[in-house]
Amino acid sequence: MSQLYFEKALLPDGWAADVTISIDGGHIATVKSGARPLSGDERHAIGLPGLPNLHSHGFQRGMAGLTEMRGQSSDSFWTWRELMYRFVRKMTPEDVEAITAQAYVEMLEAGFTRVGEFHYVHHDQSGLPYGNIGELAERVAAAAQTSSIGLTLLPVFYAHSGFGGRPPDQGQRRFVNSVDQFGKLLEASRRVIGACEGGLVGIAPHSLRAVTPDELQAVLAFAGRGPIHIHVAEQTKEVEDCTAWSGKRPVRWLFDHVPVDRRWCLIHATHMTDDESRDMAACGAVAGLCPVTEANLGDGVFDASRFLAAGGRFGVGTDSNVLIGAADELRQLEYSQRLVRRARNVFAARSGSSTGRDLFDAALAGGSQALGITGGLAEGAPADIVSLDAGDIALAGRSDDAILDSWIFGCRRSPVDCVWTMGRKVVTNGRHRRAEEVGAAFREKLGGLLAA
Ligand code: ZN
Repeated sequence: MSQLYFEKALLPDGWAADVTISIDGGHIATVKSGARPLSGDERHAIGLPGLPNLHSHGFQRGMAGLTEMRGQSSDSFWTWRELMYRFVRKMTPEDVEAITAQAYVEMLEAGFTRVGEFHYVHHDQSGLPYGNIGELAERVAAAAQTSSIGLTLLPVFYAHSGFGGRPPDQGQRRFVNSVDQFGKLLEASRRVIGACEGGLVGIAPHSLRAVTPDELQAVLAFAGRGPIHIHVAEQTKEVEDCTAWSGKRPVRWLFDHVPVDRRWCLIHATHMTDDESRDMAACGAVAGLCPVTEANLGDGVFDASRFLAAGGRFGVGTDSNVLIGAADELRQLEYSQRLVRRARNVFAARSGSSTGRDLFDAALAGGSQALGITGGLAEGAPADIVSLDAGDIALAGRSDDAILDSWIFGCRRSPVDCVWTMGRKVVTNGRHRRAEEVGAAFREKLGGLLAA
């Protein structure tokens, strides 16, 4: 049993002063406010709950900055994807583990304490399953253990290159499974994650373009009570192709064919009509927004006002990991709305409320729901905690919600000071305890991959 003391901490019902949090077995045992610190307590100024990062492809961290050169035709998501496929073709299991570990270390340093890994590269370079079909799931789990980030593993079912069951192409061969083989992969993944502290397994039918209706039904039968994630309506071309195939837009098609509920997280859901947006809000599914990646890929802008007005839930994800930052995702989310709407404080729920606070609270609740955990600094929740450096110049004189607003909108450097996951301190002075070793392995693997 250990105990932390914070001068100020953000609890489920708001900011509290003189907060002590006792931790037992990786979970929060008690939370008391208005309490004096005891002599053995570790003392900090500002305490926040760790944020969930609900959507990541860890290995894509290795490509950050390598797809920003103009190609021969006009560049889009689809030309980016070709480059991503070329990168995927060469990766060994050791590469996957080293790059993913680096991504996870950066997530922790940024204030994310759990990741939803949308894990879709399963097989060897020739497209054959490894002797152990869960080889790459094990590598992702190893990266999570090295970094001590909480992991919700989402093994992806991927079978086709386009709507209507088009055969997969060469670049997709490492992703593809039959339904039966996916069942085996899922079993192997559950075994691996069963041995990971705090680990969970969901499922992820990749997208409606990669999965036929029959396959979707078959794969959903494996879900149990765990999270279900799917990419949907990220691109206008995807919406057009879905409409040409079925007469329906992708989000509408999904609602008409599958009982979508609170277990679901619809990643991106960028292009929705009013009706789709309203139905999605009503069913309690989470919108998995990845604002930095969506901007990087030129996807479009999610219509947040409409969705929030209907009571919709959302969380944020770092997706391609081109830049890993909790504050960066929240800032980009708000700024994209401001630019489109020519308005300010779009995410502030009511007059007088703080944009940073409302963004943070919503992303904590939605991200926790999407990753199957209880979030927040509350008794019984995992002890996933972040402290901010009150000495950061951008936080000077700030208190309560102004701390969040200043972190998200006004900090040049990250003020994240310490981070605990499952009660274990993994980041101190903004630096992960294994940053050096993980960074060295990343450099070595990247050197090999990019020279090949
Ligand atoms: Zn994605």
